[in-house]
Amino acid sequence: MSGAWQPPLRLCLDGGALADNWRWLAQRCGPAACGAAIKANGYGLGARGVMDRLYAAGCRDFYVATWGEAGALGPLPVGVSLSVLHGVRVEDMALASASAARPTLNSAAQVQRWRDTGRPCDVMVDTGMNRLGVSVDEVRAGLLDGLVIDTLMSHLASADEDVPQNAAQRTAFAAIAGQVHARRRSLANSAGVCLGADYAFDLCRPGLALYGGVPRAEALGAIRQVVTPQAQIVQRRRLRAGDTIGYNATFRAVADTEVAILNLGYADGYLRGFSGPDGHRGGGAARGRAHVLGRVSMDLIALDVSGVPDVTEGDWVALDYDLPMAAAQSGLSQYELLTGLGQRFARHWM
Ligand SMILES: *Cc1c(COP(=O)(O)O)cnc(C)c1O
Repeated sequence: MSGAWQPPLRLCLDGGALADNWRWLAQRCGPAACGAAIKANGYGLGARGVMDRLYAAGCRDFYVATWGEAGALGPLPVGVSLSVLHGVRVEDMALASASAARPTLNSAAQVQRWRDTGRPCDVMVDTGMNRLGVSVDEVRAGLLDGLVIDTLMSHLASADEDVPQNAAQRTAFAAIAGQVHARRRSLANSAGVCLGADYAFDLCRPGLALYGGVPRAEALGAIRQVVTPQAQIVQRRRLRAGDTIGYNATFRAVADTEVAILNLGYADGYLRGFSGPDGHRGGGAARGRAHVLGRVSMDLIALDVSGVPDVTEGDWVALDYDLPMAAAQSGLSQYELLTGLGQRFARHWM
C-alpha cells in the first residue's frame, strides 16, 4: 500500500480554535495558571498534537490518566509539567521513578509507595466526590508528612450545575489546603473555571472546553468548535416513494429521496443515537440540511441529500458536530462525543 493512502474519513481539528479556547479559559483563571487535561488521547484529538499547540499558546501544565498515556507523549517540551491522575501502582513504580512526569497520589497506599522516592508528586484530596483521593481526615492525621508536593488538588463533582455542593467543596478544599505544604493548589475543571475566580486557586485543569465543549452557559458564544468529522460518500442513490432504508427498515420514504451513503458509522464513534427515530429523519446532520435516514450502521450512515444536488460519490461531507447540539440530538454527553471518535479517522490539524 502506498504511503500516500488516505482513509475515507477524517477529523478536521482547528488548532486556532483550540488555542483560543485555552486563552479564554486562561483569562477566566485570572492570575492562576491554566493547564490542560489531555487524558484519553487528548479527548480523542491526539494528545501530542494538542500538547504541542497548547504549549505554543503558553500552556505548561498537562494531565493524563495513566503512565501509558504519559509515555505515549514522547519527550516533553522544555518546562512542561505533566501529572498522572491515577497515581502510581506497584506495576508503575519503575517507569514512574524514571519519568519526568509525577503521579497524583490518591490513596494512603500510593502515598506510602511514593514517599521513599523523595521525588515530587501531586496529591488529590477528596472533598465530596468520593471517586479518587485521600480523605481530609487522613490529611489531618499527617498522611502527607514528608512528601514533596507540587500541587494539592481536589475535583468538583457537579460544577456544571448550580448546586450547593460546589461552594461546599470549595470551602472544604480551602480549609484543608491551608494545612498542607504544597507549591500550588488546584480545584477547577472546565465547568469550575466558569464558576469564577473563587474557584481558580493557583492552577486550573480544564479539558472539555478546550476541545469545544460547553460545560456551562458562561462559555456559550466564547468557546469555539474544534472538531469536525468528515467522511467520503461511498455511493449516491435514489429511494423511490415507499422504499425503506437500512437495518430493520426503520425509515420509509414518503416521496422520492436522494441519499448519500457515507463512510462513517458507530464503530467510529458516530453512535446509533444519531439514527432517525422510526419513520423520521435522524438527529445527525451534515451542513445543517442533510439528515440521517434510518439506523446508523457499524461503518456507514445514510444522509438525505435531496436538497444537495451537487454532492456525488467520492465527495467529502462535513458532519454537524457542534458539541452541545450534537449532545442534545444523540443523547450522549459532550465528553462521550469526543472520546468515542475512533482510530479509523485521519486527524488533520488546520
Ligand atoms: C478530566 C479531569 C479534568 C478535566 O475535566 P473537564 O470537565 O474535562 O474540564 C480535571 N481534573 C481532573 C482530576 C480530571 O480527571
